[in-house]
Amino acid sequence: MTVRSEKHTIVITGGSRGIGRAICIAMAGPETTVYFNYASNLEAAAETEEMVKAAGGSAVGICADISTESAITGFFQRILSETGRVDVLVNNAGLTRDGLLVRMKERDWDAVMDVNLKGAFFCSKIAAKTMIKQHSGRIINITSVVGITGNSGQANYSASKAGMIGFTKAIAKELASRNITANAIAPGYIETDMTEVLSEKNKVAMLEQIPLGRFGKPQDVTAVVAFLASDAASYITGQVIHVSGGMYM
Ligand code: NAP
Repeated sequence: MTVRSEKHTIVITGGSRGIGRAICIAMAGPETTVYFNYASNLEAAAETEEMVKAAGGSAVGICADISTESAITGFFQRILSETGRVDVLVNNAGLTRDGLLVRMKERDWDAVMDVNLKGAFFCSKIAAKTMIKQHSGRIINITSVVGITGNSGQANYSASKAGMIGFTKAIAKELASRNITANAIAPGYIETDMTEVLSEKNKVAMLEQIPLGRFGKPQDVTAVVAFLASDAASYITGQVIHVSGGMYM
């Protein structure tokens, strides 16, 4: 395998669709190699690879369930054998299994915690080992405004996203002495497949809570990812940056 250590290696989880795809495209360029994983959507993953290529970069999509440690170990083994580096890790993969607390099934709780929170733990743990050796690295966690405010019908999702904020701050403290930063981005309502399923009534109610009066686009989030991954953000760690049109202040 070729070791291309002159390029930066950017790892994005859940890059086949939505915000993750937009991050893959935003981080693409001649100086970077983008790797992303996805759960099952091979066709969408191939589209992301094509879109990154069209943007002048290269991306490799690998099917790897983020909630399974062996799959994530294999994902990173491939990345490390090909590039030997992990410069930026964006923990983005996530899902919802909404329902009221009293009706919520254990499997819906577990699915959300396993993907949204445990997946970030698996990836960060492996990436951090390489970043420590490099004495540099950036970990960027995509949480949610509801991890701070809570949301009716999303006890599992809100808990996973609140957990991610605590996780970010803990690892920011642990890894700072190794020149590794860890920050979280808390999007509000961003137009993707995840929010497309909401009813029109819910969308109208949501819009009323957004002072800037519009839903966000994936590119609103990628701009902050690019900043946190850049040299300009080298003195920022343990922070939560809100990208929500002012939903939470
Ligand atoms: P999305 O459009 O539903 O895309 C989810 C991505 O995660 C897909 O690439 C999916 O892969 C991947 N994924 C899901 N389960 C996985 C698993 N077990 N293993 C590996 N990959 C998996 O979601 P999105 O709206 O872009 O959201 C991205 C992140 O932003 C999530 O963490 C979400 O909680 C957060 N967020 C979103 C919003 C919003 O309004 N959209 C707001 C706040 C926070 P497949 O294509 O294979 O299914």
